[in-house]
Amino acid sequence: MNRVIIGSGVAGIAAIEAIRSIDSTSNITLIGDDPYGFYSRPGLAYFLTGELHDKALFPRTAEDLSKLNFRNIKGKVIKVSRAEHVLELKNESRISYDRLLIAVGARAMPLEVPGANLEGVLKLDHMSDAKLILKQARRGKTALVAGGGITALELTEGLLSRGMKVHYLLRRDRYWSNVLDEQESRIVEHRLREEGVTLHRHAEIIEVTGKNGKVAGVRLLSGQTLKCDLVAYAIGIRPRLALAKQAGLAIDRGILVNEYLQTNDPDIYAAGDVAQAYDPMSGRSILDSLWAPARQQGQVAGLNMAGRKTAYVKAAPFNVTRLAGLTTTIIGTVGRGRDDDLVGIARGDSETWRQLPDSMVAQTGFEVNRLRLLVGEKTLLGAIVMGDQKLSFPLEKMISGNVDISPIREQLLAPNAKVSDVIAEFWANRN
Ligand SMILES: Cc1cc2nc3c(=O)[nH]c(=O)nc-3n(C[C@H](O)[C@H](O)[C@H](O)COP(=O)(O)OP(=O)(O)OC[C@H]3O[C@@H](n4cnc5c(N)ncnc54)[C@H](O)[C@@H]3O)c2cc1C
Repeated sequence: MNRVIIGSGVAGIAAIEAIRSIDSTSNITLIGDDPYGFYSRPGLAYFLTGELHDKALFPRTAEDLSKLNFRNIKGKVIKVSRAEHVLELKNESRISYDRLLIAVGARAMPLEVPGANLEGVLKLDHMSDAKLILKQARRGKTALVAGGGITALELTEGLLSRGMKVHYLLRRDRYWSNVLDEQESRIVEHRLREEGVTLHRHAEIIEVTGKNGKVAGVRLLSGQTLKCDLVAYAIGIRPRLALAKQAGLAIDRGILVNEYLQTNDPDIYAAGDVAQAYDPMSGRSILDSLWAPARQQGQVAGLNMAGRKTAYVKAAPFNVTRLAGLTTTIIGTVGRGRDDDLVGIARGDSETWRQLPDSMVAQTGFEVNRLRLLVGEKTLLGAIVMGDQKLSFPLEKMISGNVDISPIREQLLAPNAKVSDVIAEFWANRN
């Protein structure tokens, strides 16, 4: 049995580990086009700020990988011939498969304005992008960051820590408007300003201007111009669907999969950022760009490729991140609608976070330590925990476990409720 995996990200590696957990001998081939192989992509932000050395970004040693006993091919797959069960690579070699996993992730949306191809217009997607940013960041020079979600702030923090003067441009009037509420956006914006970032609202780039092939500034829709030496953007991502489209697999925003992570071709599976999997919280098939679900999907797909019948049960999406230096945990559904700084989904993001049905809000804290709960009829639908994180763990358990909160619902929603104390006491009494 030939099992082939396209994509050396966390979903692909988790699939190999899962196959090997039940089958130590059969053929496994991994084909990946990233010259750096498998590394922590969320860790790139800490590499940019200098908090992590690039060597710390590799979750598996060469020895760990060699123990998995698979054939590792560096290359790009350009075609899947389903009838023949054969893959074609860019270098024209052909690889046959019995079971195939497509785990090719998502790509950063390009900035599509005149001048976007000038030297100094940068994104943060791969290790090579992070290295390029570090090469081009210059102490005392000016950087401009456009976009939204977590990555835009990671770029901002990274460039600040390299001594650049940073301007952050928002297309509308507040940061990450479909996940954070207004108060939370203002907390983040206030912290950015305190760090020395110049914030521009209603600022949309319509052209990057250059000199000698390098960035010199930008022109905004308002007519205003800003001088800068570097433009970094994070305006969303999109699953890489070219292979699935060419192969005639069923797609929507991602590759559609059933509970076993099988596509409409039973010999082909999809997992990670490229897959659109069923989400019991929202009752829809959704996209995530989160490390933990990508790993879990890779594991489940691997087990099923090895002959098991294991269903993927999507947990409440959960992310612990830093927004302008403030530790923030996002769990379940917390917002809705669209954010004009992003096209679709961002990195470290889940569509589930924006599927908020009618719910009541319980909140506490209006400066640094802030807690917002989305309260459903009998359960908590979501939570945002900013600053003090002692309730993140119980809240994640309560939301993913659909814990009945009827006994405390009224207390949570009472005017001036001490929401944190109510949750802490409820959790302590249950355990
Ligand atoms: C800057 C940044 C910050 C992030 N922050 C967070 C965070 O805070 N929290 C969080 O949970 N997640 C975060 N993420 C997202 C997380 O890293 C992804 O959800 C996860 O890496 C997805 O794994 P994957 O295996 O599906 O895809 P990927 O990691 O994208 O791996 C896919 C691989 O397939 C390769 N490939 C693509 N096409 C082909 C082809 N045709 N042939 C061969 N190889 C191909 C790609 O080059 C890539 O190496 C962040 C990501 C980035 C980049």
